Amino acid sequence: VNGGAAVLARLGLGEEIIKAGLPVKSVRTRTAQGWELLNIDVQKAVAQEPSLVYKGTPMCFTIMRDSLQKVLADSLDEGTIQTNKRLVGLKHDEPTGGVRLTFEDGTEELVDMVIGADGIRSTVKKETFPGPGRDPTYANIRIQFGVAEGWERAPEYAQELHQWFSEGTYALSGQYRGLEGKPFEMFALVFADDNDSEDAENSKWEPNEVKQDCLRRLSETGQPKEVVELCQRCERFFEIGVFYYPSLNPWTSPSGKTVLIGDAAHAMPPFLGQGANQAIQDAFCLGQKLSELKSGEIATLKDAVKAYERQRKLPTSAIQLESRFLGILETAGGGSGTLPSFVRDSFFFTTGKLGVAEKVFVTGATPTV
Ligand SMILES: Cc1cc2nc3c(=O)[nH]c(=O)nc-3n(C[C@H](O)[C@H](O)[C@H](O)COP(=O)(O)OP(=O)(O)OC[C@H]3O[C@@H](n4cnc5c(N)ncnc54)[C@H](O)[C@@H]3O)c2cc1C
Repeated sequence: VNGGAAVLARLGLGEEIIKAGLPVKSVRTRTAQGWELLNIDVQKAVAQEPSLVYKGTPMCFTIMRDSLQKVLADSLDEGTIQTNKRLVGLKHDEPTGGVRLTFEDGTEELVDMVIGADGIRSTVKKETFPGPGRDPTYANIRIQFGVAEGWERAPEYAQELHQWFSEGTYALSGQYRGLEGKPFEMFALVFADDNDSEDAENSKWEPNEVKQDCLRRLSETGQPKEVVELCQRCERFFEIGVFYYPSLNPWTSPSGKTVLIGDAAHAMPPFLGQGANQAIQDAFCLGQKLSELKSGEIATLKDAVKAYERQRKLPTSAIQLESRFLGILETAGGGSGTLPSFVRDSFFFTTGKLGVAEKVFVTGATPTV
């Protein structure tokens, strides 16, 4: 997290995020043969962008998902969050002007407004904007993830994220901080897939099956020892297909009573590490517009949600495009339909030398709210 962390700091959660996250010192990108293509000094780059600095701390961390969720949940009043409540239906209620929600457990709730933060396969989106073109699109890219208990890293490798490019695969490894400060080693292997998957969930959760497939792929594509050893030590494994959802589709209902944020509005491939950062900024921006509605600066709810959509659409669309482009580059050399790997390696080497890669990273991270 980077821009999202900086925005959470504005909401008073800066200290909590600093405590829960592990600072990212640098991102090193190498070919499997060890040729360094790019080395971004993240602390220095982020420190130069004032909106990413909180009380002298550059806001760029690795953090396990449950740890970030805990920081957010702990900041809310008890009872605000209800779990095990799956939304299955949503209807605008003419007599009251509200929105009627139906849940899987048979209960109903009449509310003033619905914010659909329910992810890439959003039920709020499907119910509000039925019709074709509302399903996420498969990017023909797959990711295998492994997680291991963390270990003490050599000081020169601590807080570094490593990217490795081989013929047809891209590997990312790094240490992430989890609940109660516990370190975890995280590993992701990205590769192109030339099958168009029809499978709705399109994921595999059988750890051993994914691990064996991953080890085979690492060996076939010549990934280095560091990656293979990390993969061998991982116990938790899963595989997902990468999907995106075009951000240019509408995010707000005509009445303004239903609005989408985060992946529900603009799911993107994770190659810039911006999905959650942008989701947090959406929430902040929508919150701002609703408070302007409350204070009378904005006249109607419809105007407030439209102002949110206008402000967020351009930056999220740009990041979405860049992430898709990076996904295509990073899976170069992966067979039919992919770019030759020398194009990818030359691209990263050149953009690194020119300082463009660092600029793209900081621009993507800089909050636009
Ligand atoms: C492998 C991977 C790596 C990533 N790395 C990064 C990164 O480094 N940095 C970054 O910023 N982003 C990253 N992302 C992207 C990030 O995870 C997402 O963009 C982010 O989680 C989106 O948040 P969200 O709240 O919109 O949706 P989600 O996190 O998907 O949350 C949606 C929630 O809604 C709930 N829900 C869904 N349907 C219903 C329903 N019908 N009723 C009730 N609840 C429902 C779900 O259970 C879930 O809790 C990564 C994503 C992946 C897959």
